[in-house]
Amino acid sequence: MPSLVEPIAADSPEIAAIVGIRRDIHAHPELGFEEVRTADLVAQKLTEWGIPVHRGLGRTGVVGVLRGARDSSGRTLGLRADMDALPLQESNTFAHASRHPGRMHACGHDGHTAILLAAAQHLARHRDFDGTVYLIFQPAEEGGGGGRVMVEEGLFEQFPAEAVFGLHNWPGLRAGQLAVSAGPVMASSSEFRITIHGKGAHAALPHLGIDPVPIACQMVQAFQSIVSRNKKPLDAGVISVTMIHAGDATNIVPDQCVLEGTVRTFSLKLLDLFERRMRQVAEHTCAAFDARCDFVFERNYPPTINHAHEAEFLRRVACEVLGAENVLEQEPVMAAEDFSFMLQARPGAYAFLASGDGAHRDAGHGMGPCMLHNPSYDFNDALITPGANLWVRLVHEWFAAPRRHAAP
Ligand SMILES: [Zn+2]
Ligand SMILES: [Zn+2]
Repeated sequence: MPSLVEPIAADSPEIAAIVGIRRDIHAHPELGFEEVRTADLVAQKLTEWGIPVHRGLGRTGVVGVLRGARDSSGRTLGLRADMDALPLQESNTFAHASRHPGRMHACGHDGHTAILLAAAQHLARHRDFDGTVYLIFQPAEEGGGGGRVMVEEGLFEQFPAEAVFGLHNWPGLRAGQLAVSAGPVMASSSEFRITIHGKGAHAALPHLGIDPVPIACQMVQAFQSIVSRNKKPLDAGVISVTMIHAGDATNIVPDQCVLEGTVRTFSLKLLDLFERRMRQVAEHTCAAFDARCDFVFERNYPPTINHAHEAEFLRRVACEVLGAENVLEQEPVMAAEDFSFMLQARPGAYAFLASGDGAHRDAGHGMGPCMLHNPSYDFNDALITPGANLWVRLVHEWFAAPRRHAAP
């Protein structure tokens, strides 16, 4: 067992100050790759606490390098928080509501940043571990792929973490409960755009043209049969056509029809199958009707897949910090997360930290539930202490446990 590190007290002046930082970040939300103020604040605090910082990976990314009092083992560990906000108008009117119209911390990344800062401050004061912690503050999780960019720009070459961990606050369950499991926990997310090139005609003389609209209808139906007939019933996957655009008049057969939508899977194997079958269906349906087809399929985020050993390690630490009765199985969700790119590069795990039913919100919150991406959402500050204590304990136990992976 490692020496038991003193946990952070929820009513300490340190946590009060971190809550202030969290609310300050909430009031000044910045979109992906524009997190200049937030990154300055993070870097300033880490520096203040004696943690050297590296800046510029992924444009606004910040990596703090926190060395233990002993640093003879060569052991390393990465902890990651995201910093970006969403393009959303906040409906809350409490004091720390967004000062920027059309921008809002509606996903709680302000809170994830605060949790990692609280852990960093405590670890900087209690360095009785043998190893180096990389504190990874990443930009642009919300669709920008900041995690991917940091990895591509050499995150794990410059900061060779044996493993990497992340968490997301998760509305609904009782505040402070944590869900973590091995295997897929969030889906891959891809987009497609299919242009059916037909031949315009008078709608009363359709035999003189090639009508792309019935071709599109056939295609949408056939895509659903990929889900029901081509994939294994136990594999989860979604194909949703969410946009169909064609035509401008009731008496004209349009020249073309454009279908767009999203695909979600928990494995790359199923994603490969979906892409291959959708392309076949699109091209052959068009060929059958003498039309031509452009098929574009863009893979955004891969599935987020927790590694077995790291998920179990985090689960065990969470049982010690939060109590076994508060540690739950992680039910996979079809949303996507760019921590997936870090988990493709390094072993690690990603957990959901439950944030409760929204009763924590100050007076002046808008209508609606406290759901992620909702305009009346606010991060639950009560999660900062348990979240930070989880990271602190994880660090101490990680370096006390035998090494499993060589650093990259
Ligand atoms: Zn989000
Ligand atoms: Zn998020």
